[in-house]
Amino acid sequence: MRADSPGHSAKFGSYTLMQLGSNTIVDFQLVQSNEVGGSYHMEKEGLKRCLDHLESKDLAVEYIVTDRHPQIQKFLRERNMEQSYDVWHFEKGLSKKRSQNKDCKVLKRWLHSIKKHVYWSATGTTSGPEKVASWTSVVNHLQNIHVHDDPLFLKCSHPERASSDANKWLKPGSITLAKVERILNKRVLKDVQKLSHHYQTSSLESFHNLILHFPLHGNVVQVVSSSNASQ
Ligand SMILES: [Zn+2]
Repeated sequence: MRADSPGHSAKFGSYTLMQLGSNTIVDFQLVQSNEVGGSYHMEKEGLKRCLDHLESKDLAVEYIVTDRHPQIQKFLRERNMEQSYDVWHFEKGLSKKRSQNKDCKVLKRWLHSIKKHVYWSATGTTSGPEKVASWTSVVNHLQNIHVHDDPLFLKCSHPERASSDANKWLKPGSITLAKVERILNKRVLKDVQKLSHHYQTSSLESFHNLILHFPLHGNVVQVVSSSNASQ
């Protein structure tokens, strides 16, 4: 959903649902905050209207890829709809946590690799437990251990090579390692299980960036229809 202004002062929200396989916008709903008791509820209502509309046209939704908005998680759970999380949104949340540790020199050298590992774990495997196994292997890898106990991910997949810099590895029992382990807490692992391995929402973000150039009320509908026409 895109709102006409940030925070809780938004009056209008536009909810867009895209079929990610074909980059087609399949539905678009405008919600006004006073219809739903405040701007906080606009996103859920927008999604609900989109899904109701698809159902009324007998279109079945197999699963949906979204960010991790808690209200949306609850709504989709209650509606028995399978949900996956967009990797970019997940990674952004994680890198915020990691940047709190940017004063740590050893960890700083690894930040980019950890970021790549998030994408790799999400998109290189299909089942939730495999994603978690692959993702948690990073703790071993950072200690120069590349063979793992988890039967779902027994060995790092990078080529074996001896590093010339022994200082880059994290020491067992070190504060730095404890920091990394804190990032891999239970809640994060629960989210990793549900990362989308196939489709991400980046095309929809591009669409939102495009309509940012237009004021929300009035012109948006026109933009959507021209976008549909170009499909
Ligand atoms: Zn490794």
